[in-house]
Amino acid sequence: MPPGTAFTIAVTPKIPPRLARLEELANDLWYSWDRSTRSLFSSLDHALWGAVGHNPKAFLKRVDESKLLRAAEDRVFLAHYNSVLSAYDFYHSGPPEDCAHTGLSSSDQVAYFCFEFGFHVSFPIYSGGLGILAGDHCKAASDVRLPLVGVGLLYRQGYFSQTIDSEGNQQVIYADSDFEDLPVTPVLHGNGSEVRVEVEMPQRKVVAKIWRAKIGHVTLYLLDTDLPENSQADRDITHQLYGGDRTMRIEQEILLGVGGTRALREMGIRPTVWHINEGHAAFMVLERMRDLVRQGLPFPTALEAVAANTIFTTHTAVPAGHDHFSDDMMTGYFEGFYNDLGISRDDFLALGRAPDSNDFNMTALAIRGSRFQNGVSKIHGNVSARICRHLWPQIEPEENPVAYITNGVHVPTFLAPEWADLFDRYLGHEWRNNICDAKYWSRIEAIPDHLFWSVRQTLKSQMFYGVRARLALQNSRNHGSEAHLDRLLRFTDPVNPNILTIGFARRFATYKRATLLFEDLDWLRRIVLHQERPVMMIFAGKAHPADVPGQDLIRRVSEIARLPEFQGQILLVEDYDLRLARRLVAGVDVWLNSPVYPLEASGTSGMKAAINGGLNLSVLDGWWGEGYNGKNGWAIKRGPENMAPHLRDKEDSTDFYETLQDHVVPLYYNRDKLGYSPEWIKMAKNSMISLLPRFSAGRMVGEYAQNFYVPASRQGSHYATADYSGAQKVADWKAFVRNAWWGVAIRRLDAPANRISFGDTVYFDVAIRLNGLKPEDVIVELLIGPQLPHATISDFKHYKFECTGAEESDEQRFTLNLAVSLCGKLDYRIRVYPYHPLLTHPLEMGMMLWL
Ligand SMILES: *Cc1c(COP(=O)(O)O)cnc(C)c1O
Repeated sequence: MPPGTAFTIAVTPKIPPRLARLEELANDLWYSWDRSTRSLFSSLDHALWGAVGHNPKAFLKRVDESKLLRAAEDRVFLAHYNSVLSAYDFYHSGPPEDCAHTGLSSSDQVAYFCFEFGFHVSFPIYSGGLGILAGDHCKAASDVRLPLVGVGLLYRQGYFSQTIDSEGNQQVIYADSDFEDLPVTPVLHGNGSEVRVEVEMPQRKVVAKIWRAKIGHVTLYLLDTDLPENSQADRDITHQLYGGDRTMRIEQEILLGVGGTRALREMGIRPTVWHINEGHAAFMVLERMRDLVRQGLPFPTALEAVAANTIFTTHTAVPAGHDHFSDDMMTGYFEGFYNDLGISRDDFLALGRAPDSNDFNMTALAIRGSRFQNGVSKIHGNVSARICRHLWPQIEPEENPVAYITNGVHVPTFLAPEWADLFDRYLGHEWRNNICDAKYWSRIEAIPDHLFWSVRQTLKSQMFYGVRARLALQNSRNHGSEAHLDRLLRFTDPVNPNILTIGFARRFATYKRATLLFEDLDWLRRIVLHQERPVMMIFAGKAHPADVPGQDLIRRVSEIARLPEFQGQILLVEDYDLRLARRLVAGVDVWLNSPVYPLEASGTSGMKAAINGGLNLSVLDGWWGEGYNGKNGWAIKRGPENMAPHLRDKEDSTDFYETLQDHVVPLYYNRDKLGYSPEWIKMAKNSMISLLPRFSAGRMVGEYAQNFYVPASRQGSHYATADYSGAQKVADWKAFVRNAWWGVAIRRLDAPANRISFGDTVYFDVAIRLNGLKPEDVIVELLIGPQLPHATISDFKHYKFECTGAEESDEQRFTLNLAVSLCGKLDYRIRVYPYHPLLTHPLEMGMMLWL
């Protein structure tokens, strides 16, 4: 270094006019799923493209002027450029109101709030599954022109980069993003000034600036408090994703929920549907209620009006995973709020109350503030209904409003381009418009096996190249020798990628049991170290810096990977991010998932592997509970839920070892003379055919639109018409019912018959004490079905009673004549619950009385 002070100066290249639209391409996250756009950038300067971490905006600020000038004259480059632009323009063309097929109209607007969004490595505001799901939701919404805006926070530091030292210790590296390098631009008022919003915090106001990111047709708005007008502490609110303490967390969540709602208002965006994606964003409902109370609505009416068009999606399968804050903290931050809402402190805190805790629970708030709720797989929907049962105390969990919409992945993002090319040849370009069409995909059968296999091998080679590069870096940083590196890399041969390769990559959270296959090392040795049929395992993932047991798992994997006999066959690759994820899911033969049932809410990485022809070997939990069909991968059956953890791990790992040694390994190595296993390919094709359409984000977003967004929009406007008279009616009626319900009673008047003949009519007759309710305020119902040992409510048929007039003083008589159409021993029940036609879900009151 020369002496003296070092000054720096950034010299931005001038983009030649002919290539002007490169800037536009760099500012639209369309590039995150359009491979051709990314290769356009990388073709300008491959080394720089790698050096800037595949970030188009950063790339354009650094690329050599002479390369741009040359490209502007290069016919091959220009042809590529023009073809990218024409695809881009085609995607973006057409009338904006072209959303009718989603069921929504052009006046609809869905606001989707989430704590993190994962689109691409170049935009580090995500940590893992939740963020990537949110990113995929936006991408799929853009694909179908669903009118949706995202709302989130712009973190100066996204999630950390990870290195792993030679002892297996995770080191975290946080780097500041330069917002100039991110695909975001400040949102401006008409007069050119930046849009800002203010959010009250104790003794101060915090100002946030709004940024916009473009994801095709979808806009994402991101709040940022790193502004000179804020104190340093407040500037730090958007400093780090999942960093800081509880104070930081509540301030981030207030900023997202309250600030995000204000930001939309400030920009003139009037959502007709509001989606809370995970509890972090639930404060949104408070701000919206405050707005309505200020307009003169009573609090209960405001609550009904807000909840009617709000959707809440929960992603956690353990109650402890639900975000919560102490009452003291809540009081400190929300004192002003309950006055504005016109309710007492107790009533305010009651909005976040859950049993067995004195905290303010964000899931409870989100459920009280929404009328549409869902888990993210069938199993998780049931688990969530149970976890949240207290919110509908008299309703059986299986009937409460918690539904499910299973997650999906954005196929254009995660499908390797080699597959896209092969599909173009064998299915025709129209496959892109048929991603969600289950029948369409049987055409994959028509792809010749050898071509199918060759794509698999190509992707595996590429994955090996990527893994080797990372391992080489890792080795040199950890001062490993060349000889050591050779030992590590001896099985990842890109020229001959013929070793059965199993991948396990995701967050190192304990319930995911990354080390389950290390339960019995001798057994594992017999499987992995087999002379003719060797197996390789590749691990990757980050553990949250505060998650000590998670980091222990990383150490354990590292320790096993360092055992001399496993070296090179068990690999631990650092810094799992979207880029490595894309490589791994496309390249490995088998994708392993070993969560403790039923804690994997959905899981999505296995879907990414499946659409690329990888085979899943997984516990039947989350999405795999629905995806597995006996011919498209392997399932580890779930054990009893309340088994002691060490017994359950033993049980599950035994099942894994047996499946590997008896099924997975023999199938893979059962090669014909062409060098591949036809049976393996058959299974891989089955996997793609059955899973690609079903677990696509397009299918998922379609279900959100149909099941939630459309009815929520309708219900919201229904409640809002005539000065919120609908919401008012419902609120008044609910208050009335809550007061009366304690006194409602049911008794039977008829003498029960216990034997009849088929086709006979049975007469049922009950008296209900209504305690002031009117007969039309309740539904009296008979449930009848065959006597089964484990019958659930869905096994019963439902019949409504008619009110036939007053019985005694406060009793009304309800009768039912039923022609029984079933035979055998039947079970029946009689029940009554409050009902109003304006309700969103018939059981939303949570009240029910059984005879
Ligand atoms: C898909 C994905 C995840 C989620 O993986 P799960 O197996 O669902 O936990 C996490 N991180 C990255 C980078 C991903 O691409």
